[in-house]
Amino acid sequence: MEEELTKLRHTASHILAQAICRLFPDVKLGIGPATEEGFYYDFEFSQPISEKDLPKIENEMRKIVQENLPIEKQTLTISEAKKLFKNQPYKRELLDEFEKENTKEVSVYSQGEFTDLCAGPHLKSTGQLKAFKLLSLAGAYWRGSEKNKMLTRIYGTAFATEKELEDYLLKIQETQKYDHRLLGERLELFIIPSEIGGGLPIWLPKGAVLRQIVEDFWKKEHQQAGYSYVYTPHIAHSRLWEISGHLSFYRENMYSEIEIDQEKYLLKPMNCPLHIFVYNQKMRSYRDLPLKLCELGTVYRYERSGTLHGLTRVRGFTQDDAHIFTTKENIQKEVEEVLDLALKILKKFGFEEYEIELSVRDMKSKDKYLGDENIWQTAETALEKALLNHNLSYRRAEGEAVFYGPKIDLKIKDALGRPWQCTTIQIDFNLPEKFDLFYIDQSGKKQRPVLIHRAIFGSLERFIGVLLEHHKGKLPLWLSPVQVKVINVSETHIEYAQKVAGTLRQENIRVETDFENKSVAKKIREASLEKIPYIVVIGDKEVKENILAVRDQEGKTNSETIEQLIAKIKESKNK
Ligand code: ZN
Repeated sequence: MEEELTKLRHTASHILAQAICRLFPDVKLGIGPATEEGFYYDFEFSQPISEKDLPKIENEMRKIVQENLPIEKQTLTISEAKKLFKNQPYKRELLDEFEKENTKEVSVYSQGEFTDLCAGPHLKSTGQLKAFKLLSLAGAYWRGSEKNKMLTRIYGTAFATEKELEDYLLKIQETQKYDHRLLGERLELFIIPSEIGGGLPIWLPKGAVLRQIVEDFWKKEHQQAGYSYVYTPHIAHSRLWEISGHLSFYRENMYSEIEIDQEKYLLKPMNCPLHIFVYNQKMRSYRDLPLKLCELGTVYRYERSGTLHGLTRVRGFTQDDAHIFTTKENIQKEVEEVLDLALKILKKFGFEEYEIELSVRDMKSKDKYLGDENIWQTAETALEKALLNHNLSYRRAEGEAVFYGPKIDLKIKDALGRPWQCTTIQIDFNLPEKFDLFYIDQSGKKQRPVLIHRAIFGSLERFIGVLLEHHKGKLPLWLSPVQVKVINVSETHIEYAQKVAGTLRQENIRVETDFENKSVAKKIREASLEKIPYIVVIGDKEVKENILAVRDQEGKTNSETIEQLIAKIKESKNK
């Protein structure tokens, strides 16, 4: 975030705190930073406050802006600061810590009667804050720890101009309106009942149709790209996770053990070690490589309950996983093919804007990485060349590679410009060592293969959540769980309408009917709320002339023959 905006938002958070102190004199102050989206401040109130109090607080903030109080910095010794904040326990706790770290002096910023402990920088006076708004309230543990007291966090945002503020507020409104959790319920796609547990979604019949379309498409593309599909179990012996190293570097994301016949098993957080058994099932030669194994593999990972969010953050999810076993020489070729496949698949779903990151070693501490210099160099160069050959712009993240190999991360940008982690291509020098993988090369010698982990959607759940928000619930025809809804005007039209629905079904078109005793207008309204691409209305004229009144999503109605409608739907499948 640019420095000016940070300054502005940080000042807004101080003005918020000052307003709160005026309205609630016994309040205890936490901290109040600027954020990517705005600012917040944490408070401990003696009486709980609610969203209804926000306008009153905002008014007080406007008064402070009007007073145009100069903002002045002062440097104090720790003991002077402690005296100043004698009634503010949270500030004193921070000062105690500074003291422990041997800090001698701290800075405070004052505006009128209000002073806060703060490193700055700030605007020159409160009058320079032009466009701001308070947004919401939430509970937040002091310093993010569940062991501490729960404080009240007030969120707000601020911009340099009213226009930017308005644009931002409009954007959040859109985000809320097309939240995939609301769409999921309204379109009857999925539910996450608390009785089953947080982060464990159930796909309802229509959601299951959508998911199946996505899966079938994915499988077809992978089969054409030379991948072989496998199935692996959901739990595996703890010995396996010990060999793979997950029990040492991934344990905190895994659930407790399950005991079966006095042996310990664990739910799988990843599919990799299981796919390795497919590789190792027989002796491999260079002629078998690359071996590309894929699976829509359901994994379970521990996510803190506070972070669970609809389909985008869950505890049980299905990765569109694949493992490519290849020679060192072919890394670049394989990565290029993965990029080709990823871009093709993402484009099909309407995603064409990306943020890409290439994570490489920290050259200053090479010893913390596994694998020799030569293989790291080969792999890093291969990844970089693959990106360059695809004309993709990327950020080189020095030192962000994991210890076992470099990787490429691709985030898709949705209609609101938000980035979502999606595709990952991860080179791994570790697992082939741990499981002693080898192949026989052309001269009959044993060689170590390189393992490439890769996912394109990342998780099917999250991808579908993002997909719903990206399309604002109005899915493209080929993905719509229901493509056509057939409705009748009156009872005498049911027979013909049923025949129409039957013919469409014979053509593998997904059809629903609504023959209930309601007005046509009501039936149309309901079908358009369900975001169904085509609504077919059958009345006297249609029965008499053997045609259909077809209403599209824009609300335009055309007279068409059934053959014309079938052709139109089939044609759009290929788009
Ligand atoms: Zn893997």
